[in-house]
Amino acid sequence: MTLLRLAERGLYCEAGDFYIDPWQPVERAVITHAHGDHARWGSERYLSSREAAGVLRTRLGSGATIRAVDYGEAIDVNGVRVSLHPAGHILGSAQVRVEHRGEVWVASGDYKTQPDPTCTPFELVRCHTFITESTFGLPIYRWPPDSEVFDAIRAWWRSNRDHGRASLLFGYALGKAQRLLAGLADADVGPVYTHGAVERLNRDYRHAGVRLADTQYASGMPRGHDFAGSLIVAPPSAAGSLWVRRFGAISTGFASGWMRVRGARRRRAVDRGFVLSDHVDWPSLLATVEATGAERVWVTHGTREPLVRWLSERGIEARVVASQWKGEEDTDPVEVPGEEITA
Ligand SMILES: [Zn+2]
Ligand SMILES: [Zn+2]
Repeated sequence: MTLLRLAERGLYCEAGDFYIDPWQPVERAVITHAHGDHARWGSERYLSSREAAGVLRTRLGSGATIRAVDYGEAIDVNGVRVSLHPAGHILGSAQVRVEHRGEVWVASGDYKTQPDPTCTPFELVRCHTFITESTFGLPIYRWPPDSEVFDAIRAWWRSNRDHGRASLLFGYALGKAQRLLAGLADADVGPVYTHGAVERLNRDYRHAGVRLADTQYASGMPRGHDFAGSLIVAPPSAAGSLWVRRFGAISTGFASGWMRVRGARRRRAVDRGFVLSDHVDWPSLLATVEATGAERVWVTHGTREPLVRWLSERGIEARVVASQWKGEEDTDPVEVPGEEITA
């Protein structure tokens, strides 16, 4: 019996009787972060990082029972030592460290090691078994420096403004949108407008002390408002919707790790792709997994086989495990209807 195992409802710790990011309701859920595929409704009790508490509350609703702990603060769950450590993925994202009888497992959820002003930086945690994502587990995925990406976004916006167009920039409502807004805080870009699904989460980020560009809720503007020359940040689900018509002449852009590949840009039918990801790229993935010192690695989601092969060649026991977590490719279900803002 291993300390963690994949059960019907999710990743389960039998010794402590709790689940990590379960995909079905359970009694006790430890949550790595608030993205829809990791933080699902219906569990009786949730444990999260303190940094995640605000966004998790927005996502799960006021009825959810959430206990928040500081990063690094160890708690005892039925004799199992559990602590959360920064994952650098989005605000409050955590790796879950589980220790029992001298054995240490780390379930990383989603993570990145690149600097990101919107969340606490990734912390390397040594362990015997490391459970990793592999969203971008192919050598073609390498991220440019942020400064390069934000320079390109600024130049795109300026050119659009000079042509009397609005710039409509798509990014996931939780995490990516705020990273864009943080990166543009001093960029002299704008005015900046947002879709409701983004604005709602901006509040949680600002409340947590993250500095974002000043934004206005696009749907709050009077009818006939002229959006020419502005920048609008919206979730990908808003593309092609009626909501977009109010902006008049637009150029569209999409910020995602997938934009590294031309075909993905074409499929999205956007004018511009900006390579900005909240996951590790291939070199960082290998470096991180190796640095954990893990002798056993489980690869949960994304392009898993190349990583498993790479690790196996280095004498690390690696295997694919079939989780129901998803990579960056999937639109968060919450983003689809959520235009209206609730207080
Ligand atoms: Zn995620
Ligand atoms: Zn995920």
